[in-house]
Amino acid sequence: MILQLVRARRRQVLIDVDTQKDFLLAEGKACIRNHRRVLGHIRRVMAWARVRNIPIISIAEVHPDNNGESEFCCCIDGTEGQRKVRYTLVSNRVCFPADGHTDLPRDMLRQYRQVILHKRCVDPFDEPRIDRLLSEMRANEFLLIGAAAEGAVKAMALGLLQRGKRVTVVTDAVGSHNKREAKLALRKMEAKGAKLVETKRVAGVSHLRHVGACDCESCRGLTRKSSIGLREVS
Ligand SMILES: [Zn+2]
Repeated sequence: MILQLVRARRRQVLIDVDTQKDFLLAEGKACIRNHRRVLGHIRRVMAWARVRNIPIISIAEVHPDNNGESEFCCCIDGTEGQRKVRYTLVSNRVCFPADGHTDLPRDMLRQYRQVILHKRCVDPFDEPRIDRLLSEMRANEFLLIGAAAEGAVKAMALGLLQRGKRVTVVTDAVGSHNKREAKLALRKMEAKGAKLVETKRVAGVSHLRHVGACDCESCRGLTRKSSIGLREVS
């Protein structure tokens, strides 16, 4: 049976990919480049989606701990790094584990503002529940933010495009580990039909001076050459 949620044709849906502490914070196990700038834009887009009542589908990576011997370096179940950055969460949310099942409650998107789905892999479409939800969900536009451009965001964009969805990538709210690979990935997404825009086109400009969430000197606005110099001599 087709889910209730697919009947209502929604204008826009925000897809937030792997916006977890391990990827976005300086202390994270696999922090992206330019995390301060990307965090600021993610915060802006999330605030915009909240105000506009735009449904948020969040994908989050999780790997089992295996008694401390996980083959993965980040997003280990139960660790702080696996958790989402606080402003990527809205209070009215529901979360689904990555268990290989495809069940979803009928009125899910009417009941909840945010649906969080876990995945055990890079490509979100390798998880049956995520594949089902995104294949069946209709919207005029799927907006993508998160990390990483050359990894899960690329897989998300290409998977949606293959399923005939209209995809817009908010490029400055997408982080990457490798600048060159990220550039190639964005080019590929665009070649396959994705629209590339900047945060200000979608959500306007933020007046926030600090991005919050991250405690590094850069995010707290403390990175002046003099202060770093002083620290080095002391
Ligand atoms: Zn930081």
